[in-house]
Amino acid sequence: MVEHLRMTTDVEREQAISAAGFNTFLLPSRLVYIDLLTDSGTSAMSDRQWAGMMLGDEAYAGSENFYHLETAVRRYYGYAHLIPTHQGRGAEHILSQLCIKPGQIVPGNMYFTTTKVHQELAGGRFVDIIIDEAHDPDNEHPFKGNCDLAKLDRVIKEHGADRIAYLSIAATVNMAGGQPISLSNLREVRERCQRHGIRIFLDATRAVENAYFVKEREPGYAAMTLEEILRETCSYTDGCTMSAKKDSLVNIGGFLAINDDELAEQARNMVVIYEGLHTYGGMAGRDMEAMAVGIEESVQLDHMHARIGQVEYLGHKLIEGGVPVVKPIGGHGIFLNASRFLPHVPREQFQAQALSAALYVDSGVRAMERGAVSAGRDHETGKNVFPSLELVRLTIPRRVYTQAHMDVTAESCVNLYENRKSIVGLKFTHEPKYLRFFQARFAPVEGEQVLRT
Ligand SMILES: *Cc1c(COP(=O)(O)O)cnc(C)c1O
Repeated sequence: MVEHLRMTTDVEREQAISAAGFNTFLLPSRLVYIDLLTDSGTSAMSDRQWAGMMLGDEAYAGSENFYHLETAVRRYYGYAHLIPTHQGRGAEHILSQLCIKPGQIVPGNMYFTTTKVHQELAGGRFVDIIIDEAHDPDNEHPFKGNCDLAKLDRVIKEHGADRIAYLSIAATVNMAGGQPISLSNLREVRERCQRHGIRIFLDATRAVENAYFVKEREPGYAAMTLEEILRETCSYTDGCTMSAKKDSLVNIGGFLAINDDELAEQARNMVVIYEGLHTYGGMAGRDMEAMAVGIEESVQLDHMHARIGQVEYLGHKLIEGGVPVVKPIGGHGIFLNASRFLPHVPREQFQAQALSAALYVDSGVRAMERGAVSAGRDHETGKNVFPSLELVRLTIPRRVYTQAHMDVTAESCVNLYENRKSIVGLKFTHEPKYLRFFQARFAPVEGEQVLRT
């Protein structure tokens, strides 16, 4: 599929971002030139996926496409039971409701927005056990998604194993900049957890990208296929939640996969309340077919090489241009270090939110904030959380843009960096209660514009 990209004028973009409350989520896509808001559901489907869409079996129950999807999930991810959901957060909701009792702790390798909100709504509390290196944008540790075993031990000792609902482990870690976890680390975490009878659930949203980094960087894995590495990753966990809108190359869909028979039965019962029957979970038959094909395509080495290679291409251009970015370059995007980019803007004025708005005004490139706005308020104290990382994510959809689009993006970021003093901080004018970054509205702290001209 080829889409027309529309260029806009400076004046149009200034008006658009102001009307959108300086939140890139509230821009109409027709006013976006290069859309790097997210890699979620924005990838291009292949000829084989589109052919699969024509084979939708839209029976209410027992669709043929469900069985294809079940076969693909069992083969590539290795879990026994598949419970389809409309997207990743549908799976997170069911898992959290079933496995978290009020007052329990959920340790994990850095929070993710939707994952954490579902854990909290179920009465749990997320505790970060990622290694310290992950909080330092300049640290070049090859596996910044690793868990700190001493932090894990401390959490177990402090709360006791029975107050830990499960471990919530992500591969790769989105909020740290798309950083991978090594399999030697995951194996050690598994051993610890088994000793204490604690289950591990994987956020497998980008586990194939994680497998690619393991193959590239971890001793002993160079000769293995992505398929084998993915299977091994999942084998250290009891189940996973999945947003298939990322690795699996579809526009919509997700799943919960579980090994335990009884838990799977409970999840199948719960999915009919919130998502749909357990053989479609909110998806059309054709969507499940596209996902089954997408899963198979996602583990192809040439695909992943091209995908991550394109992200690295953009990253290296920015580094050459002197723009501060999170290093090493992650799997699904480039993360601009907004604190270093805008030292003249105080953190309370949402540096990353201001930078993403200014980038749109400069060139029509749409990015997103991953900093204090995304982190929200502390569940217990109600105070703004200021995470160590204040980032703007330039997320690359799979199989969509060319290197020329990456060049335009890099040029705009370098230009903005050179003129960074003209970027103005923001203040809230509307703050939603949950996942505020999606729908919040802002205004510049002085004047009308985020980018002074
Ligand atoms: C996107 C995402 C989710 C949530 O999935 P949705 O399909 O958007 O509901 C969960 N975890 C990670 C790491 C994600 O990137």
